[in-house]
Amino acid sequence: MKALTYISKGRFELTEKQMPQITDPKDAIVKVTLSSICSSDLHILHGSVPQAKPGITVGHEMVGIVESVGPEVSSVRPGDRVAVNVETFCGECFFCRRGWVNNCEDPNGGWALGCRIDGGQTEYVRVPFADNCLTPIPAGVSDEQALFTGDILATGYWAAEITEISECDTVLIIGAGPTGLCTLQCVSLYNPRHIIVCETDDARRDFVRKHHPEVFVTDPARCLEDVSRLTESRGADRVIEVAGTDTSFEMAWRAARPNAIVTIVALYDKPQILPLPDMYGKNLTFKTGGVDGCKCDKILRLIAEGKIDTTPLITHRYPLSRIREAYSLFEQRRENVIKIAVYPDSDGCTVEPDDIDELEQLGLDSCGD
Ligand SMILES: [Zn+2]
Ligand SMILES: [Zn+2]
Repeated sequence: MKALTYISKGRFELTEKQMPQITDPKDAIVKVTLSSICSSDLHILHGSVPQAKPGITVGHEMVGIVESVGPEVSSVRPGDRVAVNVETFCGECFFCRRGWVNNCEDPNGGWALGCRIDGGQTEYVRVPFADNCLTPIPAGVSDEQALFTGDILATGYWAAEITEISECDTVLIIGAGPTGLCTLQCVSLYNPRHIIVCETDDARRDFVRKHHPEVFVTDPARCLEDVSRLTESRGADRVIEVAGTDTSFEMAWRAARPNAIVTIVALYDKPQILPLPDMYGKNLTFKTGGVDGCKCDKILRLIAEGKIDTTPLITHRYPLSRIREAYSLFEQRRENVIKIAVYPDSDGCTVEPDDIDELEQLGLDSCGD
């Protein structure tokens, strides 16, 4: 089978690999029906994920159909359509029992798929701890609707949850990239008084205006002023930092009112400065990433109920055999790409009828060239 393989820093190649086998009684083999490319894959490509092992198949965002299961798997069966969780976790260690699955102590725990063990930008993938890490997709929910459940949507859901949002809050979200947009949808579930989204990119600000007309959209130059105006000069009650740029961390704590919660979802390339003398008296609470992705059942239910819809984030579709073109488009942020859905070659590069109009408006064909 074809698998996009991490060869060395700066080099991913589509190689031929053997079909994965069940190696532990808790494993399942999943036929990948749709996968996606995440900015964390680019971090691996650039050599900035030290735990990533050369030779592994990359990709950790995927949905599929269970092909086979080990003897100790009870919650899914061959033929089930499933969302795969980015984090595989044992469910039994100190951290898992408290819901902190990102810190699972098992060697296959945490972010293993597509980093330390073979991931999903391929045809079949072995998923450890299948009972914990595969969630059946409800009937009526498409692969494209479910695609982001296990990774960026899990991140947005977790971020909104730990930020302790109430209906009287003004919530500032910094960054409207794919994870910021998922965070926005999950924050909306709490019905805060105002949501403000700060984003540098014009096209992404337009995307938020189009799909979330209730949200106040700003840019870094005007952000502090706009937050102040909408909060009677107090500052934002809750800030979620998803941008991870050189200046976004500082903006996050500056925009926060005294006693606010500031949640840091972003992954930075370098250390950030926490200037405690400047923030003395602000009494801030900081919460930091990464995601504890163990609420996929709830997320899929919200998708089935129509309360979360991340399909507009899929701006491009590619077959697996052309995944390297998809990477280049994603990395260079051409054509206002947000997320790319990668289909198995056997499916061709199908587009659902509703999407065709929008793609044509963007001047793209169905495969995104
Ligand atoms: Zn990811
Ligand atoms: Zn564990």
